[in-house]
Amino acid sequence: MIRIYNTKERAKADFEAIQRGHVGMYVCGPTVYNRIHIGNARTFISFDVIRRYLLWRGFDVTFVQNVTDVDDKIINRANEEGRSAAEVAAEYTEAFIADMRAVGVMDPDVRPKATEEIPAMIELISELVEGGHAYEVEGDVYFSVRSYPGYGQLSGRNVDEMESGHRELRSDGQGLEDRKRDPLDFAVWKAAKPGEPAWESPWGPGRPGWHIECSAMSRKYLGLPFDIHGGGADLVFPHHENERAQSEAACGCTFANYWMHGGMLQINAEKMSKSLGNFMLLHDVLEATRPEALRMLMLQTHYRSPLDFSEERLAEADAALVRIENAVRGLDWAIEHAQDVPSPLDTRALIDRTRETRTAFIVAMDDDFNTCAALGTVFTFIGEVNAQVADKTVSLTDVAALKQARQAIVDLMGALGISVEAPAASGPAFPPEVVALAKEWAGYAGESPAEAADALLAARAEARANKQWDVADGIRDGLAALGLAIEDTPQGPRVSLA
Ligand code: AMP
Ligand code: ZN
Repeated sequence: MIRIYNTKERAKADFEAIQRGHVGMYVCGPTVYNRIHIGNARTFISFDVIRRYLLWRGFDVTFVQNVTDVDDKIINRANEEGRSAAEVAAEYTEAFIADMRAVGVMDPDVRPKATEEIPAMIELISELVEGGHAYEVEGDVYFSVRSYPGYGQLSGRNVDEMESGHRELRSDGQGLEDRKRDPLDFAVWKAAKPGEPAWESPWGPGRPGWHIECSAMSRKYLGLPFDIHGGGADLVFPHHENERAQSEAACGCTFANYWMHGGMLQINAEKMSKSLGNFMLLHDVLEATRPEALRMLMLQTHYRSPLDFSEERLAEADAALVRIENAVRGLDWAIEHAQDVPSPLDTRALIDRTRETRTAFIVAMDDDFNTCAALGTVFTFIGEVNAQVADKTVSLTDVAALKQARQAIVDLMGALGISVEAPAASGPAFPPEVVALAKEWAGYAGESPAEAADALLAARAEARANKQWDVADGIRDGLAALGLAIEDTPQGPRVSLA
């Protein structure tokens, strides 16, 4: 049974799908006025992992994610750059989709754009007005917070203590407080201002407020109630509180059963954000790092905890991933070189541990998607597997058990969205410095790090045969300086990441 921490309850609860075997999920998408940073990416990767795990557990998942393509920030950027808001939004929508694919996040089943869903929003606002939950003032429409008794429950706030904090300004700086009946009320429709994108509505030309977008799009594509609503923890208030209030006020039913919120990615213990200027764009980070390493870093922390980002931690995550990849490769090696010899392995124990590892992985992930503990089970297992096969010629009778072990590692990592099955030629990549080392010690003239590593092994073997110990040691030390080791196996020496 999967248990999920539900923000609304501030506790974990068993996950009961509304429709057996099916999960409807809505995760708020980006406002497209800039490329996303790795903080945004953390939230999207977390929900990709959650979605993938639900799929892996056999659920049929419908995943909806909006694109907010009309907003003050987009309009401001368009004005600064002398182009239309639609152009700015189109550019960054495309960049967002490219960034998500580059980092291995599955495309949503539906990716509605706010500007293409205005009729659904107008319909919802009309229902709110008719039901006495919203009112019009000079072309603006406001949601009446006190008309919905559950307001504040999601974020654990008391309406009467909120009075002062929640202020909204029009982009022309004019206060809205005197227009609203209650300072807590918020805009669901904003009257058009000159030069801004606008749509016709029963209240005159204007554009939707941010919160109503998600209420309208989730309802349209998932129906109410749906199972899981997600986003970063910074969206709990006011965005999700407001989404919930509007949706539940209009339908008189529950909006979403489980509210899931991801912790913030931080830099030097401070939230990464566009406004603080401490951000690193995902696109730039991926120039220097493979996407699997970034995902690995994210998985090493529980999705609800804050994650402190640093280049060192990213490098460590990459190294951790290499350990898993090497274990798979080591198994491949052992399987390929199996001989008709008595088995040197405790095959029974290996089969048991493979099964136990799968179970432990599921227990960890079922507990509110504890990826950190789940990875721990994989690392424990590869430690055992490495110890079993190291320096041994395995028997043909071991092959089936070794294949099962290999399959488990690949499958469990796959459930988290990481492929560790890269063909040997493409990784773990030897550092390019290996080429220079092979030029120096082995007379190698090519440019391929993998070939260079082979040339070094051949040169070392020759040197040892000729008792040129200084050459053999020079090669070993040169490789060690690059973080590489020579492993002597019964099948002959090979270079691996130390
Ligand atoms: P925005 O475009 O600002 O609405 O953000 C898009 C998504 O990224 C939302 O789900 C935010 O909660 C999330 N987000 C923003 N900053 C961070 C951060 N530093 N760490 C994790 N998630 C973030
Ligand atoms: Zn939303």
